[in-house]
Amino acid sequence: MNTAHSLDLLQAAGLPSVFHLSINGKLVDADRSFDVLNPATNEVIAKAPQASAQQLEDAIQAAAQAFKSWSALSWQTRSDYILQYADALEARQDELITLLTLEQGKPKHSQAKSEVEAAIYWVREVAKREIPVQVIEDTAEHVVEVHHTPLGVVGAITPWNFPVLLGLWKVAPCLITGNTMVMKPSPYTPLTSLFFGEIAQSVLPPGVLSVLSGGNELGQIITEHPAIAKISFTGSTATGKKVMASGASNLKRITLELGGNDAAVVLADADWPSIVKPLFWAAFGNSGQWCIAVKRLYVHSSIHAAFTAAFVEYAKTVKVGDGMDQATELGPIQNRMQYEKLIDLFEDTRKQGYKVPLGGVIDRSLAGNFVPVTVVDNPPENSRIVQEEPFGPILPVIAFDDVEDVIARVNASPYGLAGSVWGGDRAAAIAVAKRMETGTVWVNEIHIHGIDIPFGGHKLSGMGVENGQEGLAGFTNTKSYMFKK
Ligand code: NAD
Repeated sequence: MNTAHSLDLLQAAGLPSVFHLSINGKLVDADRSFDVLNPATNEVIAKAPQASAQQLEDAIQAAAQAFKSWSALSWQTRSDYILQYADALEARQDELITLLTLEQGKPKHSQAKSEVEAAIYWVREVAKREIPVQVIEDTAEHVVEVHHTPLGVVGAITPWNFPVLLGLWKVAPCLITGNTMVMKPSPYTPLTSLFFGEIAQSVLPPGVLSVLSGGNELGQIITEHPAIAKISFTGSTATGKKVMASGASNLKRITLELGGNDAAVVLADADWPSIVKPLFWAAFGNSGQWCIAVKRLYVHSSIHAAFTAAFVEYAKTVKVGDGMDQATELGPIQNRMQYEKLIDLFEDTRKQGYKVPLGGVIDRSLAGNFVPVTVVDNPPENSRIVQEEPFGPILPVIAFDDVEDVIARVNASPYGLAGSVWGGDRAAAIAVAKRMETGTVWVNEIHIHGIDIPFGGHKLSGMGVENGQEGLAGFTNTKSYMFKK
């Protein structure tokens, strides 16, 4: 692997080349730093500050202090601050997009742009949401109301696949409900979060949002810390279990958005030629590094061969490359650890002798973490490629005969994030969707999200939800008031 230094790449792209922790409203350096690599080249693009345990402690104490005044502000005042934050982010969005591509790999002109735009839209729209007081009873003698009060300091821990969107998804609802936040992004993609943390210091009061980069041990400290009231975590199921275990020390509120092995079921009467392209992007967008990517594609046996052939033909037209190139449609795998995991899975697929009509061979001589678009034709249900979350650009297209059987196979997964059903008879497709044991289902469409639509996983895919009223309420305590008149 080439670990040459190209620290001037950011400068050439008109970006800052020095990154700071943001703690208590100030931009702070650390004694130590770590390398951040461009996954398209494996060159070092920047040094990220490695926050010390003491700096984390300072940020948590500052957040606890800031909570007193921030939570006392009116909802409208907090909303005004967050709207200003959205404007400040928008003013720097081009830099954020380029930085996202350079550290994460996704194509600048398509997926990085839409991630950043969606994230800013989210901040702006969430700032306009409110949790109304619920009046349960209002009689001549008695009033009963349900209010939602902020929790305190929230620890946010985020992954490397959508660092901007998933980070800001946490910031806006946390702050609007009156909490303060200490965020720790993934050590693989810290730069965009440090950047939006830095922007926050120009508009938010000190201590309301601090962002600190560092290794997993910082995350561990956050999950154990007695002054943290809630953890909002997005990442793997394995880490989610650890977060839950250490959060038990002070009964932290916990929201976990974890892994998935989402199925798409294409029924016999689907208008299948029209869905080849949307299903391709639902599976391969962000190079498959997506919690809700389609990871198992079940197609009725009467159309399986024709569908797979058309799917492969379309997939052949998609260009994998450096996300900074205008022509690139899919970028590299974000980090070497995930790339090595994929090499192992590809090796298993090859050894087992499954039919691979497209891709299948990773060229290790390339400097970047490039993995070709790979389709596996009808591997057995118990194969690793069907059972595991690959988190890369490889998809099994599996034939089924019987609807009852496919529902049982879909639900046999320990994960339950999302799923989709595609069919001509809308009612029949909805009936199948209703039986999927997942937090989200789509019928004849996919990957629709909304500010007001709760999103969360069943089973090993998570706990609690983000977005919607329920997501906002997840950053609060429920408080019942009873007043005698
Ligand atoms: P990860 O679990 O390895 O890391 C996530 C974050 O947890 C990182 O910031 C990491 O530094 C931190 N961390 C690691 N060990 C920790 C510990 N002991 N205590 C506290 N924090 C710790 O996950 P990842 O590889 O960054 O992300 C990929 C996974 O995330 C996939 O499984 C994917 O499906 C999942 N994901 C889920 C969603 C969702 O909304 N459900 C969204 C995106 C990604």
